Amino acid sequence: MILILRPAVTPAEFKTILDRLEALGVSVHHAKGAERSVLTLGGDQEMLLSSQLEALPGVDRLVETRKPYKLASRDFRDEKTTFKVGKSKLGGKKVLVMAGPCSVESREQCYLIGDAVAKAGATVFRGGAFKPRTSPYSFQGLGKEGLEILAEVRERTGLAIITEVMDTRDVELVAQYADILQIGARNVQNFSLLNEVGKTRVPVFLKRGMMSTIQELLMSAEYIMSNGNENVMLCERGIRTFDTALRNTLDLSAVPLLQSLTHLPVIVDPSHGVGDWRFVAPMARAGVAAGADGLMIEVHHSPETAFSDGVQSLKPRRFAEVMAEMRKIARAVGRTL
Ligand code: PEP
Ligand code: MN
Repeated sequence: MILILRPAVTPAEFKTILDRLEALGVSVHHAKGAERSVLTLGGDQEMLLSSQLEALPGVDRLVETRKPYKLASRDFRDEKTTFKVGKSKLGGKKVLVMAGPCSVESREQCYLIGDAVAKAGATVFRGGAFKPRTSPYSFQGLGKEGLEILAEVRERTGLAIITEVMDTRDVELVAQYADILQIGARNVQNFSLLNEVGKTRVPVFLKRGMMSTIQELLMSAEYIMSNGNENVMLCERGIRTFDTALRNTLDLSAVPLLQSLTHLPVIVDPSHGVGDWRFVAPMARAGVAAGADGLMIEVHHSPETAFSDGVQSLKPRRFAEVMAEMRKIARAVGRTL
């Protein structure tokens, strides 16, 4: 059960509501959002339904849900969540594209790629300053210097910035620079990190883990939202299956499935999904056709010398072509891009 409070609830009304819930003996989790508070209630559903909680001053409504994820569910909110990303709106008619290199390598590299993806019509510039690498000996990212370069790209191009945060100790720092905080596939169930980004009011881009079920992904979104940050977007980036022919198996059926289960925007990352630049374009087009609200695509001007994920990166010219191809698909399914 979810008890949604009115935005204008007074402290006295709030206390009366909590006292009443305590008297009913139910457990209460308080998520204080930017606009209003939401109380997630444990306990017997029938008893709560008959307890006339909706009659209390300060209460907006009581929502019944049997899903383990509550704030992320369509029971809590049926209309799609939209929020501003840079100058655009995510979750609306327009399909937003986030593009850029896997890693922030240098100022020159980011300026070059940033200029190119902005010109091709992307809304967000991506680039990792903290990189989750399989080997401790591989390039780990430029850290704070990388964040500064990203901020310069935003200044220069007008693109919003998305970058990954890997550690609870870095959340405050990364949140000072990023317009969107990325939680990578490997950290999808790092609950301390999810709680920490949930305490910020910066939109969070949550990647599905390589072994996450759809329900586990939604439960991870619930961790963020239960801390009061409702601006969460979910990303399908490929999962591990028995087939090893490609880096991952891009589960595009997750897009319509997630759209039916949650009001949160859904993004497709075909680059990590296939791991081979030759197959990025068809899967990007398919992602738009499947109904994604956004795409994340890795772009590099010199994939052969990229510090990470060069094999799956599109060159700027090919990226511009893919943008045009996706635009046609978007139109065919009633969207813009
Ligand atoms: C990335 O976006 O570069 C990345 C590391 O992605 P994932 O967490 O999906 O592997
Ligand atoms: Mn990458």
